[in-house]
Parts: sequence; structure tokens; C-alpha cells
Amino acid sequence: MLLEPTPIQYLGKLPGGQDIFMKRDDLLGFSFGGNKCRLAAAFLEDMEEKGKDFMVSYGSPASNLNRTVAGMCKSRGIPCLLIVAGEDGDQELTFNRQMAAAFGAEQVECSKSRVAETVGQVLEELRGRGYDPYYLYGSRYGTGNEAAARKAYQKAYNEIYKWQNESRIKLTHIFHASGTGMTQGGLMAGRRGAGGKEEIVGISVARDRERGEAAVRRYAGDGPEAILFEDEYRCGGYGLYDRDIERVIGEMMDSHGIALDPTYTGKAYAGMEKWLESRGTGRETVLFIHTGGLPLYFDYLNKKRNPAV
Ligand SMILES: *Cc1c(COP(=O)(O)O)cnc(C)c1O
Repeated sequence: MLLEPTPIQYLGKLPGGQDIFMKRDDLLGFSFGGNKCRLAAAFLEDMEEKGKDFMVSYGSPASNLNRTVAGMCKSRGIPCLLIVAGEDGDQELTFNRQMAAAFGAEQVECSKSRVAETVGQVLEELRGRGYDPYYLYGSRYGTGNEAAARKAYQKAYNEIYKWQNESRIKLTHIFHASGTGMTQGGLMAGRRGAGGKEEIVGISVARDRERGEAAVRRYAGDGPEAILFEDEYRCGGYGLYDRDIERVIGEMMDSHGIALDPTYTGKAYAGMEKWLESRGTGRETVLFIHTGGLPLYFDYLNKKRNPAV
């Protein structure tokens, strides 16, 4: 159902002179693409294997995961409930949230400090309604489904590995926006399996290094590899951005017609440029994974037009 493998496109030279390629996971072909397509498909497969009949997901009001899971469940006739995190007054109406509602997913709001409790209540209530629910992250504390998530980007890594063999282009670095660690952990597991040598650099969009690395480690599974989870390009936190990120978004649209967003891909691309500037040699061959999130580009345009939103 997804358009795999996704294409790898040459973009030209970075400011430091390195060749830069982009893996277009924004073109996966379902609901605006993005890494959440691969992840949602992996979770739905896991759910099916476990014989569950009701999907429960969790994310922020701007969550690409919730939107994609809701859309994929809709297309397969699986009932779905989304737990939407946020502090009071933080329940903004994003395009992702509107789409999730349009797919008919039930939505339950909860504060970030009460997620486990809310998940527990929701699961109990669904059981009371006669369902056998599947919580995407596993237990109500958010662990247990690492193996299912891992498969998604293990597979994407294998696409990258194969592309290098076929094109005879040798990548030295793979960059991407890193949040929960599902994408980075899967890539690392794929690299371990294939014996790849690229440095996989996750640019944190929210978490500090300690918390981020621990999560990547869980999703990567047992292995001795060092984790590059870089937290110095966060601009103060999730969803916050600066002029430099806006410059990158503008340049990418103007030069290539590719939409980046300020929360994930724009932040990661700007972080990658800075990382290479301070730590690179100029001789890298770089792949950036476009992890999607296109609806956030439109949220960004709305915000620019009306900064009060
Ligand atoms: C969720 C998301 C990420 C981060 O992926 P993780 O697997 O959570 O680390 C990156 N980019 C976009 C657009 C996302 O929606």
C-alpha cells in the first residue's frame, strides 16, 4: 500500500561543499507521506498479528502520527481513538488534528502529566464496550512495542543500503529529525543487520540528549553502537524555531519545490548544516531523510499570515 522504496534525489552542494541527497519519505503515497506511514503500517501489522480490534494512539495536537494512524485505520475499517496531549489552552486546531477528526477518530484530550492514567482509563472503557484494544506504544507507560516499530526504519535503511550498491555512491552520513527514537532506532538496527558504516545523526526536535538517547537505544535493540542524538539545535523546544530555520524552509521551497516544516524537517535540516559546519571535514557525502509532516508546512504558512494563531 505504500510506495516503497522511496526515491533518493540529488539536491546539489551544501554550503560546506558536500554533496547532499534527500530520501523522499514524504512521497510514501498515503496521507501526505512521512515516516509515520511506515510506522503506522508496522503497528497495524502488529495489531493484526495480535488479533486486536481497536487502535489507540497518542500524540500532540500537531501529531503526524495520530493523523496518519487515523487515516490508515479509516481506510481499513478499523475503529480508532486518539489521545491528544497538551497543557490547558494548548489544544490548538492544527491541520493534522482536523484531518484526524475528518477520518472519524474519537479524540480524548489529556495533560502531559496524566498520559499513563488516561491510557489506562481509555483502554478499560473500550474493553467495557466489548473491544480488545491495541495501544500503539505497548503498555500504558509507553513501552513494549519497540520490536514492531523497529521494522519500519530497518526496512528504510535497507532501501538506502541497496541504493548505495546500485548507484555506487557511498554515503558517509545520514541525517534526520529525531523525536521518539523510532526512526533512528530502526535505522540503526538496519545498519547493524547490513553491516553499514554510515554515521546516523538524529537531530533532536524536542528531547535532551540523555532522554533521547535512551529512547533510541530501546528502539534500536541490543547493540554496541554509539548513538548520535544531537540536542543543541532545538531552538528552545518542540515547535519553536528561528530565522535560520525559516531561511532553510524558504530556500528549499524556492530551489527544489520541496516543503519543509519548522517543527521537524526544517529544524533538522538547519541543524544538519550547523553540525557539518562545526564537525564536518567538507568531504562528507550526506543523505537527509525527508520524514514528511507536510500538513505542518501549512500550519506554518497560517502562522506567518497571522502570528497570533
Ligand atoms: C514524528 C516525526 C519525526 C520524528 O520521528 P521519530 O520516529 O518519532 O523520532 C520526524 N519528522 C516528522 C515529520 C515526524 O512527524
